[in-house]
Amino acid sequence: MHRILERQISRSIGTLPADTPHPWLDLLQAVSNAYAHADDDRRLLTRSIELSSREFSELNERLRLEKETVEQKVRERTAELTKANAALRELDERKSEFLSIAAHQLRTPLSGLKWALNMLIGGEAGPLSNEQKTLLMKSYEANERLISLVGDMLQANKIEKKTLQLNKSRTHILDLLDNVLYEVLPNASKRRVSIRFERRDDTLPPLVVDPEKIRAVFQNLLENAVKYSQEGGEVIISVTREGNGVRCAITDHGIGISAEARPHIFSRFFRADNAKKLDPNGTGLGLYIAKSIIDMHGGRIWFESGKDGGTTFYVTIGA
Ligand code: ADP
Repeated sequence: MHRILERQISRSIGTLPADTPHPWLDLLQAVSNAYAHADDDRRLLTRSIELSSREFSELNERLRLEKETVEQKVRERTAELTKANAALRELDERKSEFLSIAAHQLRTPLSGLKWALNMLIGGEAGPLSNEQKTLLMKSYEANERLISLVGDMLQANKIEKKTLQLNKSRTHILDLLDNVLYEVLPNASKRRVSIRFERRDDTLPPLVVDPEKIRAVFQNLLENAVKYSQEGGEVIISVTREGNGVRCAITDHGIGISAEARPHIFSRFFRADNAKKLDPNGTGLGLYIAKSIIDMHGGRIWFESGKDGGTTFYVTIGA
C-alpha cells in the first residue's frame, strides 16, 4: 500500500481491521495505485522540466554564440564597406574634378571654332560652293552639340558639388517659352514636327526666377518632345496659372516612357532603350539638370506617359 495512504489510514483509524470487507480493500488498493501513478507522473514531469530547462539553456547559449558571430561578421563587413565607400567617393570626386577641368579646357577652343566656322559660313574668307557650305554647316552643328555637352557636364558637376547658383530676376515665363520655341522650331521643322500652344494665359504674373536656367529647362523639355516624337508628329504646349505661379505642360505623341524606365528618368546619365535606338547622341543629363534647377526654385517637375506612347512633362514654378 502507498505510504501516504498508509499514513492517512493510521492517522484516522489506526490499523485496518482484519475483517475489512473485500470491496473496501479493493477500493483502498485502487486509491493506493492512483497515488503511485500520481508519483510516477510527478517524477516524469520533474524530469521533463529538468530536461527542457537544460535544453533551453543550451539553446540560449547556442543563440548567444551565433549572435556574437553574426555581429562580428556585420562589424567586419561594415568596415569593409566603409573602406570601399570612401575609395569610391574619392574616385568619384577625382572623376568629377577631371570632368570639370576637361570641360573648362574644352570651352575656349570650342568657342574659337564656333567663331571661325561662323566667319567661314558667312563668306568672310571668300565665296563658298554649296558643297563646302553644307560641310561647314555640319561642322557648325557638331560643334554646337559639343558646346552644349560641355555646358551640361559643367552644370551637372556643379549640381553634384552643390555649388550651382541662381541669378534671379523678374521674368515672364511666356517670353522665355517664345524664345525657346524660336530656337527649337528649325529642328522641329526638319523632323516635320509641329508645335502649337493649346492654352496660353497671357495674364500670368512675372516670376522671380533665374531666366537662363529656367529657359534651359524648357529648351530641354521641348527638344526632347521633338526628338522623341515620330516624324510628322505634334507637340502641344499649355501654360496656365497655378496659385500665384505658373504651370506648364508639354505633350508629345512620341515613343513614350516604359514602366521600367519611369523611376530612373531624372537620374544622371539615364537614357531609356527606346530613346537610345531613336537618337544615339543623347547624354541623359538634361532631365537631371532640369529637375535640380526646378527643385532649387521650389517648383515641381513630373511626367505622365501612357503605355501606347505619348508623354506629357509638367512644370510648376512659384505655385
Ligand atoms: P537625353 O535626351 O539626352 O537622353 P534627357 O536627360 O533629356 O537626356 O532625358 C533622359 C531620358 O528620358 C531620355 O534618354 C529618354 O529615355 C527619356 N525621355 C525624356 N523626354 C522624353 C519624351 N518626351 N518622350 C520619351 N522619352 C523621353
